[in-house]
This record gives sequence, C-alpha cells and structure tokens, in this order.
Amino acid sequence: MTELVLYNTRTRTKERFEPIEPGHARVYSCGPTVYAPQHLGNLRAYLMADLLRRALEAEGLRVTHVVNITDVGHLVSDADTGEDKLEKAAAASGRSASEIADEYTEQWRRDLRRVNCLEATVYCKATEHIAEQIALARTLEAKGYTYRIDDGIYFDTSKFPRYAEFAHLDLGGQEAGARIGDVPGKRHGADFALWKFAPPGVKRQQEWDSPWGRGFPGWHLECSAMSTKYLGAPFDVHTGGVDHVAVHHTNEIAQSECALDIHPWVRFWLHNEFYDFGGEKMSKSKGNLLVLEDLVDRGFDPLAFRFFFLQGHYRQQQSFTLEAMEAAATGHRRLLSAALEVRGAPGEAAPDEIAVHRERFCQAVRDDLNAPRALAVAFEVARSADLGRAARRALLLEFDRFLGLDLATALPRVAASGGDPRIDALVAEREAARKRRDFADADRIRDLLAGEGIAIEDTPAGPRWRRG
Ligand code: AMP
Ligand code: ZN
Repeated sequence: MTELVLYNTRTRTKERFEPIEPGHARVYSCGPTVYAPQHLGNLRAYLMADLLRRALEAEGLRVTHVVNITDVGHLVSDADTGEDKLEKAAAASGRSASEIADEYTEQWRRDLRRVNCLEATVYCKATEHIAEQIALARTLEAKGYTYRIDDGIYFDTSKFPRYAEFAHLDLGGQEAGARIGDVPGKRHGADFALWKFAPPGVKRQQEWDSPWGRGFPGWHLECSAMSTKYLGAPFDVHTGGVDHVAVHHTNEIAQSECALDIHPWVRFWLHNEFYDFGGEKMSKSKGNLLVLEDLVDRGFDPLAFRFFFLQGHYRQQQSFTLEAMEAAATGHRRLLSAALEVRGAPGEAAPDEIAVHRERFCQAVRDDLNAPRALAVAFEVARSADLGRAARRALLLEFDRFLGLDLATALPRVAASGGDPRIDALVAEREAARKRRDFADADRIRDLLAGEGIAIEDTPAGPRWRRG
C-alpha cells in the first residue's frame, strides 16, 4: 500500500491509493479541445494532474501518463447538437481545422512547460485514432448497445443499468430532459452519439469513412478508445475538470464498461474544481479570457501562476483576480528569496533535524494532494530560525520535487524590473546576500552594478533598480 490518499469521485470518499499493477501507476487526463487558446482555468486541470503525477512518483511508482488532444468531434452543445468546435473556428477564421488545432496545441504545450508540468508519456490526438474509435463503436454495436437514427449511431443508455450511478444523475428530472436537445429519433435524453454522419450537402473538413457512412466520431469515444490503447483496462486514475462528471465521464464509463465487460473500468476519478474570474465564467464575450501569456505581458513570472495554483486545494472552487495574482507573485518571490539565501549553503543537514519537517510535508501531499498545506510547511522551513542553512536548503529542494517552483535555480523577480534579466538576477542575488547578512557580498554586487551606472533603491515592495 502507498501512503497516498485521494478523493475518489466514483465512491465520494477519500481512499488509499494502490496501483493495480505493482510499482506502476497508469493515469489518463482529459486534455484540451484545441479550437481556442487554453486559458488559466484550463491550466488548473493540468496542474492538478501534474501534482498527482509528482505525488505518485514520490511514492516510488513509475507513472504512465496519457493525455488526449481533442481535435474533432467536440460539439458546441453537450446534447449532440450544434457545430463541431473546430469546424466552427475554421469557418470563422478561414483557416483549416488542422492549422487551428496545431496552433492551440502548441500554445498549450508551451504553457504547460512554462508552469513546469512534467511531460506526459503520451499525447494522443483524436484525429489520429479514428480506426480505434470505430472499432470501439463496432464492439458496442455487436453487443447490442447502439441504434441508428438519421443523424448518427447512438449509445442506448437504458441498456447500461449503472448509467446514473457515477454522477448520481436523476434521469427522470430536468437535467436529463435538457440533454435530449433537438436530435429527432433519440430514444432517451441521456443517449449520446458514437458516430455522427456528415450533414447532407455539407463537406466537412474533418470526416472519415466508417461502416455506417461518412462522418466523424462522437466526442466521448476518443477517451475510451485511446486510454484502452495506451493504458489497457482497467487502469488506475482518470482526471479532468468537474464539469466532465455528469456527461463526458459518465459516457466514457458507459462505453468502456459495456465494451470491455469491466467494472469499475477506472479505479480512481479525480476532478478539479473551476476557477471563476471575479465571480463569472471566463469567456471571450465577457472579455475576461486570460491566458498565461497575458500574465507574462503584465510582468508576472509563469511560475507565480503555479504558485497561485498551489495556494488553493484543487477541489476548492476559487476566484482568479489580478489582485490575488499579485499576492501570489509576492509569496512566490518570498519563497524564491528564501531559497536563494540558502543556495550553495555548505555542509550536510543532520537527518534528525529534517525528519520532522519532511514528515509534515509528506503528510500534506498524501492527504489528497494538499498543496496549500505543503506550501505552508515550505514557508515554515524557509523562515525557521531553528534550522541551519544546510537543512533548509536540503528540505526546500526536496519539497520542490512536488511544488515544481524551480527553487534550485529560479531567481525572484525584481519589483518594477528594468527588463534586463541579468541585472534582475544580480539585484536578486544582492538581496539574498543582505538577507543572510553577508554585507560584503551585497556591497560587492552593488558596486559592480554602480560601475555600470545602475542604482539600486530598496523599497517595501523589494529592491528596484534604474539606470543613471
Ligand atoms: P476544454 O479545452 O474545454 O476541453 O477543457 C480542458 C480542461 O479544462 C477540462 O478538463 C475542463 O474540465 C477544464 N476546465 C475548463 N474550464 C475550467 C475552469 N474555469 N477552471 C478549471 N478547469 C477548467
Ligand atoms: Zn475525456
């Protein structure tokens, strides 16, 4: 047994994690729909998966992490109606769907790197797994779970008695009714498309031949097909945003459990809560759609956004505001300064000096990835007057394997920096020297900068520098 305890949406309880295959954890994360930029809320989903990954590795497990890229089939409505998000974006911009998908996949991958999300083992695209999706739909058809209507091949949810179980759905209630949408011939509100026919007279950019006719896969199919391909079944953990519980994940479970004759298909389901943006959903129309690059343009370090993420537990709904982001940036700077202060500290830390702090940090991580508590332990260590510099250095570096804040190398950004990273770094180093009361070193750096015509001014917000 590992010591890691995770909140499992499937059972609505915290459970001790044990991989199905000894020593190896298999994880699938629902990835982006690449028709538009991935915003700060989306990043929360991948940061949560990243924490999980790091916590599993800390338990000594090898992790296979698979993340999908939805580049076809995700319709603007969950009720199997409306346009395909990618086709719509292509029509609106005059560009090809694949060009759009490539652009936003690249943006997302770059942002993941900038917030230190570890590379997944496999990134898989829906459009590159059409055959696997068709094969899965054929299995369901052969087992009698499907029916055909004018619009496509549908999954008959009444044939899967556990359908409502995962999300505690009330299928007789309004929620289900709202899902019927306006697809004529659908038998039950919750039934969903496995394969959609290309509309008559419309030439889609993305369509394929299938045993049922030309068309494209329903959105949910890709995650069932690709997770089975790369992880086998059953597997250990499936992650995604909390919005996926009622429809997308419920449908993934229905398809997979019926096709594979397996229950439970996935042991643990982890869902991150949403960020709201000043009390509202982030959307282009409200003009509050922020991406990581917008924070960088405002002078924030991308890792300050990771710090913002760590300050809240992933199952807590949270508001993102620029004021809260400023506060996170200040906290981030403080932790980096503390880490910088002990960087290169000589000597070994005594094992009994660090054991108790290490234990408290591990307990936080193991308690459903409690990042805010882990961060609090890191700050206590950083500020501790009882711990020697070598002990603080050793602990902070160890904690950073989970926090992912580059505590070994990153430099605190200087308030109102002049936009020169080399000078920022020197100013930060002088600040760290001052904090460790190494005034000779601090003065050496100040004189060096003075020689270049740069003056440092110490303000309550931290040091600033200017030329001349
Ligand atoms: P999408 O690109 O819309 O398929 O979403 C990618 C991931 O981001 C999914 O796991 C969503 O559940 C998640 N997500 C979307 N909006 C937010 C938000 N505001 N806060 C947190 N997670 C979100
Ligand atoms: Zn999915």
